[in-house]
Amino acid sequence: MIAHNLGYPRIGSHRELKRACEQFWADKITRQQLQEIGRRIRQDNWLTQQQAGITLVPCNDFSFYDQVLDMSLTVGAIPKRFQPLLDRPDVDRLTLYFAMARGYQQDGLDLKAMEMTKWFDTNYHYIVPEFTVDQSFELFSDAIFAEFDEARQTLGTTPKPVLIGPVSYLLLGKEKESGFDRLDLLDRLLPVYEQVLTSLQALGADWIQIDEPCLSLDLTDRQREAFAVTYNRLKGQFPQLKFLLASYFECYGANLNLVVQLPVDALHLDLVRCPSQLEDLLKTDFVNQQTRLSLGMVDGRTIWINDLENSLTMIQRAADAIGAERLLLAPSCSLLHVPCDLNSETNGKSLTPEIKQWLAFARQKLDEVSTLVTLFREPNNGQATEALVANQAALVARRQSPLINRPTVQARLALLTDQDARRHGTFAQRQALQHDRLKLPLYPTTTIGSFPQTEAVRANRAKFKKGDRTLEQYEDFIRTETEQAIRWQEEIGLDVLVHGEFERNDMVEYFGELLDGFAFSENGWVQSYGSRCVKPPIIYGDVHRPAPMTVRWSQYAQSLTSKPLKGMLTGPVTILQWSFVRDDQPRRDTCLQIALAIHDEVVDLEAAGIGVIQIDEPALREGLPLRRENWAAYLAWAVMAFRVAASGVQDHTQIHTHMCYAEFNDIIGAIAELDADVITIETSRSQMELLDAFGKFAYPNEIGPGVYDIHSPRVPTVDEMVELLQKAATVLPARNLWVNPDCGLKTRRWSETADALKNMVQAAQTARDLV
Ligand code: GLN
Ligand code: ZN
Repeated sequence: MIAHNLGYPRIGSHRELKRACEQFWADKITRQQLQEIGRRIRQDNWLTQQQAGITLVPCNDFSFYDQVLDMSLTVGAIPKRFQPLLDRPDVDRLTLYFAMARGYQQDGLDLKAMEMTKWFDTNYHYIVPEFTVDQSFELFSDAIFAEFDEARQTLGTTPKPVLIGPVSYLLLGKEKESGFDRLDLLDRLLPVYEQVLTSLQALGADWIQIDEPCLSLDLTDRQREAFAVTYNRLKGQFPQLKFLLASYFECYGANLNLVVQLPVDALHLDLVRCPSQLEDLLKTDFVNQQTRLSLGMVDGRTIWINDLENSLTMIQRAADAIGAERLLLAPSCSLLHVPCDLNSETNGKSLTPEIKQWLAFARQKLDEVSTLVTLFREPNNGQATEALVANQAALVARRQSPLINRPTVQARLALLTDQDARRHGTFAQRQALQHDRLKLPLYPTTTIGSFPQTEAVRANRAKFKKGDRTLEQYEDFIRTETEQAIRWQEEIGLDVLVHGEFERNDMVEYFGELLDGFAFSENGWVQSYGSRCVKPPIIYGDVHRPAPMTVRWSQYAQSLTSKPLKGMLTGPVTILQWSFVRDDQPRRDTCLQIALAIHDEVVDLEAAGIGVIQIDEPALREGLPLRRENWAAYLAWAVMAFRVAASGVQDHTQIHTHMCYAEFNDIIGAIAELDADVITIETSRSQMELLDAFGKFAYPNEIGPGVYDIHSPRVPTVDEMVELLQKAATVLPARNLWVNPDCGLKTRRWSETADALKNMVQAAQTARDLV
């Protein structure tokens, strides 16, 4: 049984690559310096894996920005708008590469970046390949060969190059013109893959890992056929290369029979997401083949330690069925999605020793893989046995810890019924009461919550965290900022005000820090896209709200104005979605526990005199499972969680929610079931097209389709916003419409925010006059 790995985090254990890239973009370091830092990270990673006992170490899993973009460069899928850069001899490949990722505004050129989207159900974003009817491919970049050589020299053994498979590569891309299907391009693409494989073979490659994660999705017959064609062709041409086919994040499901027939040399199973597929596979013809089996036993998506004993049972089962010599052992997917190294957590304040023993980051997951291999081969090995004993002790401690188990929370969850997820009156009844109370004009204006997090705001928080400011000084500053924001909103004439969120670092972290059951790492960074990293909170125990979290700030802001002030909360699904979630109970239960905490906060806000409360759920769509058959179950508990959070207030209290850009068509029914009194959504970049889903559905409640894009510093004109509003009024009744930006304004500057919002208020007035 061979220990291998599917991919390793490349950001560096202290985000070295992030810093280096950003310095390079700011012209503070040279291309050579950046390359050198990249080389050091790669070599560290390879040696770390080797020293941890991984026999088959991946290469080509490094990337300066994104592995899908790397593949686009390898196969020469460079969108035509970047041609001017190709034509210029002084522009190097790295500049072209970053231009594709980030856009290029220089020397009279203004080239738009390629689109970015979420990598399956992770929080990683990849750069979407762009295809045209006359798309051609050529071997354009040879980085993969250089990296192979470099890895071999570093390791002294033959590394395993990782390639995104041709079918998934095409499926992950987008047609930029009509009149063709991107799968039509397979015949043109495969010759380039063949060139890549020819060169790798010539360089001495043995195993090649081909990632085809689209095998975890619902596929059409044509798509399945494409897999069969591709692998028959590649194996036919490269009988000596060993192909390890990997998919992850889901069961192969209906694609299992297809996969079993593919002429590959090893098949990887994600046994964390789908433990049952081992038995499914063993019922197929796979048992009689020579194909090896890669068991993805160690969770590559979360930070919990493996249950080694459990894993050994499964490994034994596989070995009994097909023989240990046919087995490989690995994490469930690339370790890209977990932080680098638990040993970087030294401060012990939030990640106490007790919590730390329950956790494994990428580095520790390698140890788990190799410990499992050792335990399987030599059950009496001293060191491995010690590790097993410690593992069992940690699992028992975790199960029994009072930190995790709060009987009162569990009891409350057990008593939860549909009744707790229902407002008293119907929407129509509530609407009448709210209109009476709030006395808002037609097309009421509001914002999504945050105002600019200026340098001063961030510096103040940093100083407070470092101990250079007292709590009193810190809060005085926040009070001043809040008061200014209130005065300013009154001045420009907004109807429903917000406090500005100056006291919040992040919309999830802020709540996590105030709730029991959450822990925070110091260095637990995970790449989100390019140089952007996130540090997800760790939900380890039953969630409990020891005290009100936002009431003081909302109440203070409301005391400054006679206009309605909107309290601002993050919803349970979003808090869940943007955290590492405990794996010892269903996600549903954890989500409902968070919902109960938010529920209590909503009730407290109402009692404190706050009449409008927004519960943000931007992550509702991204929580959708990869396979449609699982959507309904997810949406049922996700909707229930929101409703639990939003219920418990009187009918005259207005509940808002907010969602950013999303494929609303997929979830419009669920959005309606949230039964929020008002929803604000992101629509302006699509010129209100996203609103169509709501129109077709005859969405019954009030809605604020964003009238301007907050992602750009550009100040929208009054006219264009009036036009968007009028367009919205053709889709939904005008009396249900609100006027607001697309999203929060925390990334904007005050100057542009002021101009934009003044114009927005003016646009609402103009639209009212036109009625
Ligand atoms: N209330 C949050 C803000 O304004 C919402 C952010 C979001 O939707 N991502 O910043
Ligand atoms: Zn948003």
